[in-house]
Amino acid sequence: METSRVEIYSYDLTYAFGTYVMSGGQVVESLASTVVRLVTDEGGEGWGEVCPLGPLYLESHAGGARAALELLAPALVGLDPTNIAAVNAAMDRTLKGHRYAKSPVDMACWDILGKVAGQPVATLLGGRLQESFPLYKAVPLGPPEQMAKYVRERKAEGIRSFQVKIGADPYEDAERVRAVAAVTDAGDKLICDANGGYRLQDAVIAGRLLEPLERVYYEQPCATLEECLYVRQHTTLPMILDEVITDTQSLLRAWQAGGMEALNLKISKFGGLTGAKFIRDLAERLGLRVTLEDSWGGDLVSAAASHLAASTSAQTLFTVSFMNDWTNEHIAGYQPRSRDGVGAAPTAPGLGVEVDWKMLGEPLFVVG
Ligand code: MG
Repeated sequence: METSRVEIYSYDLTYAFGTYVMSGGQVVESLASTVVRLVTDEGGEGWGEVCPLGPLYLESHAGGARAALELLAPALVGLDPTNIAAVNAAMDRTLKGHRYAKSPVDMACWDILGKVAGQPVATLLGGRLQESFPLYKAVPLGPPEQMAKYVRERKAEGIRSFQVKIGADPYEDAERVRAVAAVTDAGDKLICDANGGYRLQDAVIAGRLLEPLERVYYEQPCATLEECLYVRQHTTLPMILDEVITDTQSLLRAWQAGGMEALNLKISKFGGLTGAKFIRDLAERLGLRVTLEDSWGGDLVSAAASHLAASTSAQTLFTVSFMNDWTNEHIAGYQPRSRDGVGAAPTAPGLGVEVDWKMLGEPLFVVG
C-alpha cells in the first residue's frame, strides 16, 4: 500500500462560549484549523487535524502548519502510510522540527493503520483500558462572578474538572478562584492555569493565596522551567507543567528536578499520536499523571485525544478534554460526542469518525 495523494484543507473553528481569554491578554474567538487527508492507492483514506492556539501561544501558527505541509506532502507520496515510523523519518528528513505540522500526518497514518487492521486506534495505542472518562473544560479569564456562572452552567452539564484561567493580578486571580471554588463540590478539580503569564513574585503570591483553597491545582505559573521550579519550592499546591514540556529531554529535566506531579500532553506538541503515546508511556513509568488534549481542534483532534485517553489507565489520566465541545463547527458530525461531561473513544476502526466533505469545501492544495 502507498499514499497516492495528499490533500490539505482549512476551516475555521469558532469558540462555543463567546470569547476565550487567557493570561497576557490573549483572546480567541475563532481559529484556523488545518486538515490532512491521505489517500492510498488501494482506495483507503486517513484523516488528521492540527489547530494551533493562535500565533502567540506556542511556537506554532496556522500559516506555519500549511507552509510546512506544502514542503512535507511530496515526501509522503509513494510511502506506505501504515509504516508510521518510516513516514515520520521521511518527514524529519524533509523538515527539521515543526512537530505540530507533522502531527496531522501522523494522525492520518494511525487512522489508516486502524482501518487496515480493522481496529480502533485505542487498541493500537496499547489497548482500551477505559470505556469512558470524565472530561474537563477551561474557564476563560474574566470577572469572578462571570467565571463562577460559567462553572455552575458546565457543572449542570456534568463537567466536574475545570481549568481555571488565571495569570493576571495574583490578588484578583485569588478572588476569581475563590468565586469558582464556592460553586464546586467535593470531587471537583480546579486546575488554576496561568499559561506561564506570571512574573516570579506574582506566581509565589498567587500560590500562597490559593493554597488554603480545596481542590486546587497549579498549572504552568511562569514561562520558564527554572521559574516554575522556584515557585514549586514555595508552594505545596500540586503542579502541572504544560508549555515548558516540549520534548523528551525537557520532560526528563523537569522530572529529575521534581518539577511536577502531572504534565499537560498536547498531541501536536509531540508530533502526533506516535510522539504522544511515547510521552504518555514515559510519564506513566515516571509516576506522573497526564492531561490529554491538543492546543485546539475539532472532531478529528477530539477523536485522536479520545483514543489516547481510552488507552491510558485511570490512575495515570489526570484530565482530558474533547476540544469539539469548545467549538461550533463539526466536520465529522460532532463525533466523538461527550455525554453528561463524560467521553469515550469510538469503537469503529481507525479514528472511528466519518468526515463530512461538504463541511471542508475545496482543498487548499493537493499533491499526487
Ligand atoms: Mg495549560
